[in-house]
Parts: sequence; structure tokens; C-alpha cells
Amino acid sequence: MGLPSPVFFPIFDSMTQQTPKVAIIGAGIGGLATAIRLVAKGFVVDVFEKESQPGGKLMEIRKDGFRFDLGPSLFTQPERVEELFTLMGERTSDHFRYRRLTNICRYFWPDGTRLNADADPDEFAYEVRRVLHIEPHKTSQYLNQAQRLYDLAAPLLLNRPFPTVEALMSPAGQKIGRNPWILDPFVTLHHRNQKSLLRPVRVRSSPIPSAREQRPSASP
Ligand SMILES: Cc1cc2nc3c(=O)[nH]c(=O)nc-3n(C[C@H](O)[C@H](O)[C@H](O)COP(=O)(O)OP(=O)(O)OC[C@H]3O[C@@H](n4cnc5c(N)ncnc54)[C@H](O)[C@@H]3O)c2cc1C
Repeated sequence: MGLPSPVFFPIFDSMTQQTPKVAIIGAGIGGLATAIRLVAKGFVVDVFEKESQPGGKLMEIRKDGFRFDLGPSLFTQPERVEELFTLMGERTSDHFRYRRLTNICRYFWPDGTRLNADADPDEFAYEVRRVLHIEPHKTSQYLNQAQRLYDLAAPLLLNRPFPTVEALMSPAGQKIGRNPWILDPFVTLHHRNQKSLLRPVRVRSSPIPSAREQRPSASP
């Protein structure tokens, strides 16, 4: 599903007889995606970036043969990126390839604890029991609740601008409108983790294939 068109710009300015220009500040993924969508609609777009390279939080640093992501490690909603290439008449696979991993990432703590996040929810729940001694049914409950929140919030907040009348009138919008607390708006992820899993740990993750660029199979 594509994002709605920006309706507030005319594609052709009848006063000046010129295609309107758009300036975008910031060449992070948000600025770049917006630029691509506007170019595909025929706008003339300039993107201004204060850093020496585009990418924003997607940037990386390389040192001693290692590659470090400065921001995202999980490629969420790849269909959104595919959509941008399609808009420009390009094939994503001509530029880069990706595949779904069985083992998504590895979580680690300062005390040496390591936890492999399997893409399969049951495998993940058993790994959580092995490493963190949390019963699988608790992890499953936690994941189901996360899925429930995602299913409620995504149609409203992720897949379209918010708030729009259309979003508010949708079934998800009406459900949240009747009971906004259903989304736990004032609960942080850390607090929820503590409450649901009774293990006060904060996490950082390392994407397994990219953490050690030269010897991926030997990542700790
Ligand atoms: C540690 C971390 C982990 C994450 N993990 C994930 C993940 O696993 N999966 C996922 O999907 N998302 C993840 N995210 C979120 C994701 O990285 C961001 O949502 C996304 O990159 C934000 O893109 P953006 O374009 O909105 O902002 P940014 O990437 O912040 O881009 C803003 C750009 O604007 C530029 N800029 C700012 N002010 C000016 C100015 N005045 N003039 C010119 N340029 C300017 C900045 O230099 C920057 O390049 C993570 C984020 C972090 C920090």
C-alpha cells in the first residue's frame, strides 16, 4: 500500500507556468524517501544535508576491518524501500540484496550474557528460557501483546499520516478513540519489559551478519 499523495502542492503552478520546486532539509531515510516520491510526481527537488554524506541515522563507521551501524540494524518494512525503487522504475535487486534471517540478531549484556533472537517465536521463547530463565509462556504472552499493539497502531500511525479523518474513522481508529489507554501511551518499553518479564535488563543488539564484516561466522 502506498502512502497518500501530498495534496497541498500543485504539480504545475498555473501562476508562474513552472513546475514548483521543493527543498528538503536532511538526507536521512525520511528526507530521501520524500524526495523520491516527489520526484516521481514530477517535482524538482533539492535535498540539503549538513553532514558530508547522506543516510542520517543509517550511517556506519568502519574501523580495523569491523563495520559498526550507528543506528538501525533490523531492516523493518522492506516493502517500503522496494516501493521507492519501483516508483523510480528501478529494481531493488540491481542495487542491493537482502534475505530473511533465521537468527535475526544477538543481544548482549555487560556481564557476558548473550541471547540469540530466532525469527521463530517458539524458538525465541525457548532461548529466552535458556538464557534468562523466563518461562516460554511469559515470552509468548509478551510477543502476542506486542503483536496486538502493532496491529492496532500500525494502520493508524505507521501506514498513513496521522491524524486524518479516514484514520480516525477506521475500525482501529474507533477502537483507540473509545479507549486510548489500550495503547499504553505513557509506558516505556523498559518499564513494560520489567513488568512483563520480571527481569530488569536493558538490551542492545548486534546484527549477526554485519557485526564482523571479515569473519561473519565468528561473531561472538
Ligand atoms: C540506535 C538506533 C537503532 C535503530 N534501529 C532501528 C532498526 O533496527 N530498524 C528500523 O527500522 N529503525 C531503527 N532505528 C530508527 C531509524 O534509524 C530512524 O527512524 C530513521 O533512520 C530516521 O530517519 P530520518 O530521515 O527521519 O532521520 P535522520 O536519519 O535523523 O535524518 C535526518 C537528517 O537530517 C540532517 N539534518 C538535520 N538538521 C539539518 C539541517 N539544519 N540542515 C541540513 N541537514 C540537517 C541530519 O544530518 C540527518 O542526516 C534506529 C535508530 C537508532 C538511533
